[in-house]
Amino acid sequence: MKILHNAHIHTLDASTPTASVLVIDRERIIAVGGLELLEQFPFAEKIDLGGRFVLPGLTDAHIHMQWYSLGLQKVDCETDTREECLRRVAERAGVTPPGEWILGHGWQQNDWGGGEFPSAAQLDATAPDHPVYLTAKSLHAGWANSAALKLAGITAATVNPENGKILHDVDGNPNGILLETAMELLDDALPAVTLEQVVKAIQAAQSLLWKMGLTGVHDFDQRLCFMAMQVLHQRGDLKLRVTKSIPVELLQQAHELGLRSGFGDDMLQVGSVKVFMDGALGPRTAAMFQPYLNEPDNRGILNMDGEELFEIGRQAVETGLSLAVHAIGDRANHEVLDAFEQMRRYEHEKNLPHFRHRIEHVQILHADDASRLGKLEVIASMQPIHATSDMLAADKFWGERSALAYAWRTQLLNGAVLAFGSDAPVESPNPFLGLHASVTRRRADGTPSPQGWFPEQRLSMLEAWQGFTSGAAYAGGMENRLGKLSAGYYADLIVLEKDPLTCEPDELLKMQSSATMVNGEWVWQA
Ligand SMILES: [Zn+2]
Repeated sequence: MKILHNAHIHTLDASTPTASVLVIDRERIIAVGGLELLEQFPFAEKIDLGGRFVLPGLTDAHIHMQWYSLGLQKVDCETDTREECLRRVAERAGVTPPGEWILGHGWQQNDWGGGEFPSAAQLDATAPDHPVYLTAKSLHAGWANSAALKLAGITAATVNPENGKILHDVDGNPNGILLETAMELLDDALPAVTLEQVVKAIQAAQSLLWKMGLTGVHDFDQRLCFMAMQVLHQRGDLKLRVTKSIPVELLQQAHELGLRSGFGDDMLQVGSVKVFMDGALGPRTAAMFQPYLNEPDNRGILNMDGEELFEIGRQAVETGLSLAVHAIGDRANHEVLDAFEQMRRYEHEKNLPHFRHRIEHVQILHADDASRLGKLEVIASMQPIHATSDMLAADKFWGERSALAYAWRTQLLNGAVLAFGSDAPVESPNPFLGLHASVTRRRADGTPSPQGWFPEQRLSMLEAWQGFTSGAAYAGGMENRLGKLSAGYYADLIVLEKDPLTCEPDELLKMQSSATMVNGEWVWQA
């Protein structure tokens, strides 16, 4: 038994919002209150928190753990100069057995002065004994050395694939730069990722996430990721609470197997069936009612209509699985809401429970649809950091329609539950950056203005925290035991030096957990 005392505890439980003492027995909180608890539990281990602040641990309700974790293993090529990037590659080559691949990500030749693409020869000089392949930050270009080109079978004779380009030097030989679909030629030569690699990568990533204050995730990667999490859990090394989605391509198999949302335990459970309704804002493939600005023929790409989604949803709820549907554009969200409306009727007719269905991203809604998530009890799974990252693109491609883009205040007012996440590695998983974006609608550099982008959508600090705590817990069906610091709830918590509910919002940008507890166990201490 442990007693945390001399702390400013924000329980995020409206009935007892603050306390100074927390009693933990194994994985659960058993009492929350004041000094009287010290006498009540005289034999418990006493931990003096020196007046620091304690809050529930944060959950990232939309992350790609495998993709993010493997990315961390790559050489970080987001450098100010090409020389620094090459130095990092050389450093990695020094600790990598000859012949093994060195992978990296994040370079942008425009940041390196001159704007010229780098060359295979530069990498050959740096790492002559390893195939090296470094993807650009945009993911639209790759930089390979000669050994990598050779393994991929790319020669002077290789023709450009459709929508791709292999760049050449003055002698007509491939110079190491592959654009767009030409990158796939190299991807095919990369060794397949093994389960043990994913296990190790996720295990390493966990500690970074604890430091950021995360104690749980809802993961949207696939089979290998699920297996890796099971391996970690079996070894006793999974110390993040995971809700794991299932790709819709495997709905039939899940149905045959009888797999239901919630199966597993409170550390690793099956979540929702993930379906893609449309594309994204950046490439202008999000499905819209009206065309993109200055592109009168482009309304994006709708993968299926509401009828088709309903058919999928019917099979899912009959099995006992909820749906998590990726929808960015207003048209895509509309079709999803039509399907959910039918599904609610279907659940009612068949005496099924109301499943925890969710829309992933909810990036832009038509005004007529703004209140439908609340009415239909559909969870708005949103990523606050996307709003500030995407605001310029949204203004440019959606124009005035952006007033209902990333509109979390509108969703709250209409009674929808918000579950917040990051979509890492698309964005950093650091939830403090998400909290900052949700209360300021500003980037870290202060743009676009002190009031922020569409400031009427700003949240209070408490509302933003709820998105990453109780809202995420609700989306995972665990709101009666997770997301608050109350008796009977899991002891998933973080300790902070400053009060994140009353600090200046910009202070959130530098915050990190100085101690993180998951399931009653300290997993990280500064
Ligand atoms: Zn995602």
